[in-house]
Amino acid sequence: MSMDQKLSKAADLLRGSSRAYAFTGAGVSTESGIPDFRSPGTGLWSNPELLALATGDVLQRQPARFYSVFLPQWLAYQRAEPNPAHKAIAELEALGRLSGVVTQNIDGLHRKAGSQVVWEVHGHLRHLVCGSCGAPAPFEAAEDAMRKDALPPRCDCGGVVRPDVVLFGEAMAPDFERALAALRRGCDLMLVVGSSLTVYPAASLVRFADAFIIVNCDPTPYDGQAAVILHGSAGRILPELLDAVKEAK
Ligand code: NAD
Repeated sequence: MSMDQKLSKAADLLRGSSRAYAFTGAGVSTESGIPDFRSPGTGLWSNPELLALATGDVLQRQPARFYSVFLPQWLAYQRAEPNPAHKAIAELEALGRLSGVVTQNIDGLHRKAGSQVVWEVHGHLRHLVCGSCGAPAPFEAAEDAMRKDALPPRCDCGGVVRPDVVLFGEAMAPDFERALAALRRGCDLMLVVGSSLTVYPAASLVRFADAFIIVNCDPTPYDGQAAVILHGSAGRILPELLDAVKEAK
């Protein structure tokens, strides 16, 4: 099947669905300048040291080290802007073709692009939270502590303030249960974008969809079950898919 035929099949599926959701991973944000984890060569996990540090245990035992490695990355995430893939997903929602987005990303770019219904199953960087008393803290507290060479940032109660994100070995964010509940109420189509579909339990959410479309650079373990696979850049393919959906109105 040619790319045009695949786009037209995917557009037909989106138009024919009554409750479709997008499911996104780090690959939807690489064209905003944020590296993903697993793209060969460029993914963050090409550096095994990072993998070992992104845990709740390191945050507990070596908070200053944890922050000095990850804070510069998070600040870059906060400066990033949505790319054409985020914008196309927001527009598909505005057109009534998507009911919401389930994202594994913590960068906040779907909301910045205008998506209204967004479940961030691995948390977000909009604020920090005290690991002891749970009080929220502004993200700037971490930047201040870094500037003053006083990492980790601490709450008034003395606890270490941490990002509101899910690290390896930790429970999922509350949005995971919310997304699960919505998908259980019905999901006849899922538009999976920029995910290796290898991180669990997040990847298990695709199983709640009656059918799915995959947009990704590399193969995924779910390719054999996809109704359509669009291989390539999400920032190029999603605007084309949006156009195909609009054209066939
Ligand atoms: P992943 O790194 O495992 O997989 C990303 C996938 O996206 C790869 O298969 C790659 O082929 C594909 N990809 C990369 N650039 C693409 C593009 N421009 N167009 C289409 N496909 C592209 O990512 P994952 O499945 O999300 O799982 C890793 C975890 O990484 C997630 O839990 C997420 O929380 C975390 N993460 C998030 C960010 C972020 O917030 N932006 C960044 C890095 C990692």
